[in-house]
Amino acid sequence: MTIGNFCVSLQRNTEVLDNPLKQNKKMISNNLFNNSREKDAAIIYSGGLDSTTLLYEKREHIALAVTFDYGSNHAQQEIACAKWHCEHLGIEHAIVNLSFFKEYFTSSLISGADTIPNGSYDEENMKSTVVPFRNGIMFSIACGMAESRGLTRVLIANHGGDHAIYPDCRPDFIAAMDAAMQAGTYIGVRIEAPYTHLTKADLVRKGTEMGIDYGHTYSCYRGGERHCGRCGTCTERREAFKECGIKDPTIYEQ
Ligand SMILES: [Zn+2]
Repeated sequence: MTIGNFCVSLQRNTEVLDNPLKQNKKMISNNLFNNSREKDAAIIYSGGLDSTTLLYEKREHIALAVTFDYGSNHAQQEIACAKWHCEHLGIEHAIVNLSFFKEYFTSSLISGADTIPNGSYDEENMKSTVVPFRNGIMFSIACGMAESRGLTRVLIANHGGDHAIYPDCRPDFIAAMDAAMQAGTYIGVRIEAPYTHLTKADLVRKGTEMGIDYGHTYSCYRGGERHCGRCGTCTERREAFKECGIKDPTIYEQ
């Protein structure tokens, strides 16, 4: 479906729905007839460590996982992991194409591996990796998709370690967006962000207890075949495993 420069494509596992009318009819039918009462949530799902933990923790309630492809350096690696886990859990997976980000947005996350700084999240230079208002945009789309299916919750796995540099991961933003979504939908779609006050190490601990294979998650901002081991998210990932004393399955370049 193409609206001006806004191009959206949905993939249901291997099925590509390229006819908007057919897609719309199918969504309505899901909403009216097939939507299980317990499955009342959509999740914003990247295929990274944090959102994979949330996918498993809430899997009994998730009707739809939504992955946004905004052309990041690591998009293809993350999306492959997202597909793997959704297929593994039998959760419907939509991949929304936001390729126009590369045309209009400024961020090292969409400008190639060479532009990504080394270091940890609390360093000033890490701000170059911020994609302006990314979560606001993703919430807006996920909220519309949720209401289209009668799903009353949108889950997101932002955590305490994100707050230092990402304004759209902070509790005050989440609360404001939650209020906007609730006010702007008939069914009062709400945000659920249960990891807001947890650390990444808490998530590794939690996910390991649930049996998650973190070898099938991808984090590196540079997007290489292997994690670089030096960018902010590799640093954070490595420290999280170390902090909770759990063996890190990730293969790092350095
Ligand atoms: Zn990296």
